Amino acid sequence: MALKYKAPRGTSDLVFPESTRISSLLEVAARILTLNGYQLISTPILESTELFRRGIGEETDIVTKEMYTFEDQGGESLTLRPEGTAPVVRAYLEGGLQSRGLPQKLYYMGPMFRRERPQAGRYRQFLQIGAEAIGSRDPFIDAEIISISNNLFKKLGLSHYELLVNSVGCAECRPGYVRMLSGFLEGISQQLCGECRRRSRENPLRVFDCKNESCREALARAPVIGEQLCPACREHFNGALRHLERLGVAYTIDDRLVRGLDYYTNTTFEFQFEGLGSQNTVSAGGRYDYLTEQLGGPETPGVGFSLGVERLVMAVEAQAAFPFSPERLDVFVVAAPGADRGRVLDILTAVRAAGVSADADFMERGLKAQMKQAARLEARLVLIIGKDELEQGEVTLRDLDRSKQWRVPLSGMVAELRRFLEDGCFNG
Ligand code: ATP
Ligand code: MG
Repeated sequence: MALKYKAPRGTSDLVFPESTRISSLLEVAARILTLNGYQLISTPILESTELFRRGIGEETDIVTKEMYTFEDQGGESLTLRPEGTAPVVRAYLEGGLQSRGLPQKLYYMGPMFRRERPQAGRYRQFLQIGAEAIGSRDPFIDAEIISISNNLFKKLGLSHYELLVNSVGCAECRPGYVRMLSGFLEGISQQLCGECRRRSRENPLRVFDCKNESCREALARAPVIGEQLCPACREHFNGALRHLERLGVAYTIDDRLVRGLDYYTNTTFEFQFEGLGSQNTVSAGGRYDYLTEQLGGPETPGVGFSLGVERLVMAVEAQAAFPFSPERLDVFVVAAPGADRGRVLDILTAVRAAGVSADADFMERGLKAQMKQAARLEARLVLIIGKDELEQGEVTLRDLDRSKQWRVPLSGMVAELRRFLEDGCFNG
């Protein structure tokens, strides 16, 4: 049968067991974020197109070619969010969150959309975990933001990765540097790809983003921002580095690290992993002290990160055994054909009410087929309701891992289930 409908290119369905792995992973991340004082925020998946044009920057790859933008029936231009920072800052301004005290420390988890060429680690809909600390310039908060990804990686048993950090300066020192860079780029324009020549005119810093080998070689002697930082930026950067050291987060300074979004100032960073090919950045971010103003608010500093969950899963698969086993069904209730359905459902409900996960047959299967279904679901126990068992007020429990079974009175069933699930063996 030829399928009539398929998931759009670059998107996919998440099903068991990957779905439960991702949800355990999100739980671990949420715990770390909460531990650091970040609160969950959820913004709409749709935003006005202008928010991203202003927020991310007209000349960025995202805005020039990756956004899913459409006009709705009322003629309003909307865009499926390609990233989370501009929406969070919009929500911060719109909700007057500064009145709750600064900094506002917010985290989000959800899908983002970019029309890119799909490949391993690059999709058109992908899941991000991100956090923003809005309102503080303290370099400690840069280090805190960076350390959250690091803590998550450690918790997942990952070790083959590198943290790259840089400072891209501020409105004081960047313009001078950009002029210097422009001059240099003019001199080597023959050696640059078309895209980089365009970048040299529109947004010179972005040339460092080019993945082209020949461009990279041509840029080897380019002036770097690190040598041109103003004293305040230098001090801020050194402060962030000192705090990272105190937090035990290893880093490498990469003075060519500029990020793909226009709003960054001062600290920028990326966590790059081994073994993920060219989609090797799992988490990235930085400081964005002008973004809030850019979006029409008062001058407000901010710093944040975003982490690609699919790439994180790839890293975990490449480097470590997945640290969580998917949650198993505790009990599958097998009932003799013809058993009173009402009583079967009563037992199922009593088991569930005791906090023990349980399922039963809803397909009128025979006993054997029910046992097979229990095995397919990888249930830990089968609870067998036979005809004569019910008459005697008993049920049979069968430990599927050890192929052992025993009878218990209905009255003691729940206690026995709990004991089994806690101790991992039956009483006897
Ligand atoms: P790249 O250089 O790989 O395109 P980016 O600079 O566009 O990344 P960011 O905008 O900083 O990425 O997004 C943060 C993180 O989100 C990335 O490090 C990555 O883990 C993830 N990410 C970004 N784009 C995609 C995508 N198309 N598919 C899957 N994950 C993505
Ligand atoms: Mg990209």
